[in-house]
Amino acid sequence: MTLSSNLPQSERLIYYGSQRSLTPTPVHLPGTDCTISPEVPLAHYTSFRVGGPAQWYVAPRRWEEVLESFDWAKARGLPMTHLGAGSNLLVCDRGIPGLVISTRHLRHREFDAESGYITAGAGEPIARLAWQAAKRGWRGLEWAVGIPGTVGGSVVMNAGAHARCLADVLVNALVLLPDGTIEQLEAKDFDYRYRTSALQGSDRLVLQATFKLQPDSTRSQVMAATTQNLQQRKTSQPYHLPSCGSVFRNPQSNAAGWLIEQIGLKGYQIGGAQVAHRHANFILNCGGAKAVDIFNLIHYVQEQVERHWSLSLQPEVKLLGEF
Ligand SMILES: Cc1cc2nc3c(=O)[nH]c(=O)nc-3n(C[C@H](O)[C@H](O)[C@H](O)COP(=O)(O)OP(=O)(O)OC[C@H]3O[C@@H](n4cnc5c(N)ncnc54)[C@H](O)[C@@H]3O)c2cc1C
Repeated sequence: MTLSSNLPQSERLIYYGSQRSLTPTPVHLPGTDCTISPEVPLAHYTSFRVGGPAQWYVAPRRWEEVLESFDWAKARGLPMTHLGAGSNLLVCDRGIPGLVISTRHLRHREFDAESGYITAGAGEPIARLAWQAAKRGWRGLEWAVGIPGTVGGSVVMNAGAHARCLADVLVNALVLLPDGTIEQLEAKDFDYRYRTSALQGSDRLVLQATFKLQPDSTRSQVMAATTQNLQQRKTSQPYHLPSCGSVFRNPQSNAAGWLIEQIGLKGYQIGGAQVAHRHANFILNCGGAKAVDIFNLIHYVQEQVERHWSLSLQPEVKLLGEF
């Protein structure tokens, strides 16, 4: 066994006889508490519980660590992928090349009672923020209570439920640009539409967001609305098995779930992936599903809906990697 010596220790190639394999070791970013780890299975970090490894993975706790991670990847010419709670993602089985930066540990929040502003780090769970606002009697986030994503992912996705969405409350967000500068974007800059924002498909990373709520509301009413929203979701949606929530965007005519249910696809299964019985716009990982099972089931549902309804269903879930 020999080591190539012209690379940093962490990235040396190891030659096993005639076979060459890369056996990288974790990289500690100097001056930080941050470690960049090789070959991290992303199934651990997505709500579908499927997906191959990130070539490199980092979950910084501070902005400086995000910047250091950015610089590290840029110096090596590695592509970067942003990850929140992974609750709207289908990661391919082969995994993701380059550096996957998870913002899940960018956690801080501030409630300003005078203005009704909440400023939260990208990694704050949006549902937790909704409960904290409700307990204070602040109105505006009751809809977000059952959404298992982060603030960052929800800003990008324009997450929504119960006829409300993130665009209704966003004031501004701080984003990190690919050149390493931090810019404040106002709500209008996001060009928000149904589950869509200008940040989708871009390489800008959300660091924090500020929302405007109504702090002078009645606590018992806000709590009641929040609790009711959660109960309604739990009875109408399958929370007991891994999923990504709604797989398809709702077309204007009818809810995607209704269109799928009407053509008898509830319970239809490919490998370990199944169209949920409780809500036909959910695909569940019933155990042992591969990303490709889910991908194939998405395609099958699209084909059937197209055939029966002459409608092209568009996925809401984001696909990462090669399928
Ligand atoms: C059971 C269940 C129920 C759900 N119900 C709803 C619902 O009612 N309404 C709804 O809208 N959604 C719902 N979802 C989907 C999902 O929770 C939302 O889309 C959520 O906002 C995604 O946030 P995330 O942090 O998990 O983002 P991820 O899934 O990690 O990422 C989503 C996209 O945002 C990007 N991204 C994530 N974080 C950042 C960041 N900090 N900076 C830049 N880009 C970033 C990713 O690259 C990706 O393109 C549900 C999901 C599940 C599993």
